Amino acid sequence: MEAGVCRDKLTTIHYSPFTIHGFNMSELTELYQQVILDHNKKPRNFRKLETANHSAEGFNPLCGDHLTVYLNLEEDAVKEISFEGSGCAISKAAASMMTQAVKGKSKQQAETLFKEFHGMVAGDDEISEEESGSDGLGNLRVFSGVREFPVRVKCATLPWHTMHAALNNRGLISTE
Ligand code: ZN
Repeated sequence: MEAGVCRDKLTTIHYSPFTIHGFNMSELTELYQQVILDHNKKPRNFRKLETANHSAEGFNPLCGDHLTVYLNLEEDAVKEISFEGSGCAISKAAASMMTQAVKGKSKQQAETLFKEFHGMVAGDDEISEEESGSDGLGNLRVFSGVREFPVRVKCATLPWHTMHAALNNRGLISTE
C-alpha cells in the first residue's frame, strides 16, 4: 500500500449500529467524527518539548503516519507531554487526545490507559475500569468505532505505542 493512502478517508468510515452505555452508536457517529476532525485541525500539545527528558519516534508504514512523542517525566509522573509529526486525521487526533489524557498522570496510570485504549480499538479483552482503578477512557471512546477497520487501528494506536516507548526509553518504534 502506498504511504499516505488512507489520508482524508475519514468520511468513508461507517460505524455499524451497536449500543454502548445505552446510546445508539450510529447517533453518536457524527459527534465522534466532529471531535476527531477538531483535534486533527487543531491538535493539542503539538510542538517540540524543550524540557523533554524522554522521547520516542513512531512510524506506521501502512499509512505513512510518523510522529515523535516528547515527555517530561518527573518523579514518575508525566509533567508535560507533546508531539510533532505528520499523518492522517485519525493518527493526529489520537495523538492530540492521547497527550491530553496522559498529562499529569503517573507512569503506571499512563500505561493502564494505553492498555485500555489498545483493548478498545484492537478488540483485545478489555480490562474494566474498576479492575484497573483508572478514571477511564472518557472522550477517548470516540475511537471505539475504529476497531472495525484493522488498517485504522494502527493509526489510532501509533501515538500510544510511541508514548509507551518514550516512557520505557525505547527510541524508535514501527507498527510493522
Ligand atoms: Zn494513518
